[in-house]
Amino acid sequence: MRQQPGEQTGVGTRAVWSGEHDGWEGSTQVPIARSVAFGYDDVDEWLAVGRGQARGHIYSRNTNPTVAALENKVRALEDAAAATGFASGMAAISNTFFALLAPGTRVVSIKDSYGGTNKLFTEFLPRFGIDVALCDTTDHEALEAALAQGCDLLYLETPTNPTLKLVDIARLSAAGHAAGAVVVVDNTFATPVNQQPLALGADLVVHSATKFLGGHADALGGVACGRADLVRRIYHFREITGAALDPGAAYLLLRGLKTLHLRIAHQNDSALRIARWLSAHPAVTGVHYPGLEDHPQHDLAQRQMCGFGGVLSFSVRGELDGLRTCLPRLRLAHRAANLGAVETIAGPPATTSHVECTAEERAAMGIPEGLIRYSVGIEDTDDLIADLAGALDSLEP
Ligand SMILES: *Cc1c(COP(=O)(O)O)cnc(C)c1O
Repeated sequence: MRQQPGEQTGVGTRAVWSGEHDGWEGSTQVPIARSVAFGYDDVDEWLAVGRGQARGHIYSRNTNPTVAALENKVRALEDAAAATGFASGMAAISNTFFALLAPGTRVVSIKDSYGGTNKLFTEFLPRFGIDVALCDTTDHEALEAALAQGCDLLYLETPTNPTLKLVDIARLSAAGHAAGAVVVVDNTFATPVNQQPLALGADLVVHSATKFLGGHADALGGVACGRADLVRRIYHFREITGAALDPGAAYLLLRGLKTLHLRIAHQNDSALRIARWLSAHPAVTGVHYPGLEDHPQHDLAQRQMCGFGGVLSFSVRGELDGLRTCLPRLRLAHRAANLGAVETIAGPPATTSHVECTAEERAAMGIPEGLIRYSVGIEDTDDLIADLAGALDSLEP
């Protein structure tokens, strides 16, 4: 194993070096181990690997060298004791639930979780006799009251998608632990560069690595990391149910991760400038971004985050009609259901984050149909502002 950077190194050094291991014939990059199984001539060595007493791999649904490098890099970035990879973010989230919950247990969470996660809460977990209490996202008293009634798993997401609400990880982790709950945080939006949920008290972090971690919109993946005893249970569920990460995808995610800190630093700066610019535009009726001084939870954002992230959302004059007019005029944006990439991506929640929900469900979550989610890429900020100006000026009276 190549020398690993120490725990005291900065996030950028860990993004580059952590998890990297020696490949074949001096290869400086982690190779794609596109092998289903791993062969052993020495039966005792094979048995030792099978029993977990020696380093090595048996079968790629369980573990794989390329996937292990990705798991170790994310583990180091989140400063977690253990990590396990998945085929997608939703696989990481659903496997975490099904590994840790059983009939009769209770989950407390927020109304504004990612659309797919919300479906697990409303459609799938209740089917298995799991009680789910969803509270208003920013109502911390309501969350604490729900926790006090008993809780096995507290699930948080912050900032939320697509209205950029925040929850106080330290405060709710303490309340969750007082109730005896395992505390899980979806850190997809913030990434470990902007927010460290485990240091704030959470037990587990889950990621859609598809988004900022990979950063290039060319590979699906997910990771769950945190307390070793919990990750072991989640890994065991995944090795049996089979939502394994493909080694080719793991390679792309590893490559993307090496520039995570550079991308996020630029996206933080760019998103803040764009949010301020949008706030002053006459055709914009509202901007959601935790870095804005008038964001209702700006103080919490400053306490809890090291940067405010690359995603913002805004509503335009004319609501859905306004969106129909200006969205197609953006030249420097993919109109697609994704975020966290090097290219800017824009779209309405009805076809992106909350495509799984009905219009009524979105309305109940307080997500206007005319909202535009804008994931800032790594383009020059001035060019993005000029592009937005061109699109928004079409809305002026
Ligand atoms: C995209 C996303 C997910 C789901 O991830 P997939 O990789 O698409 O399965 C979960 N949580 C958040 C916050 C997301 O943005």
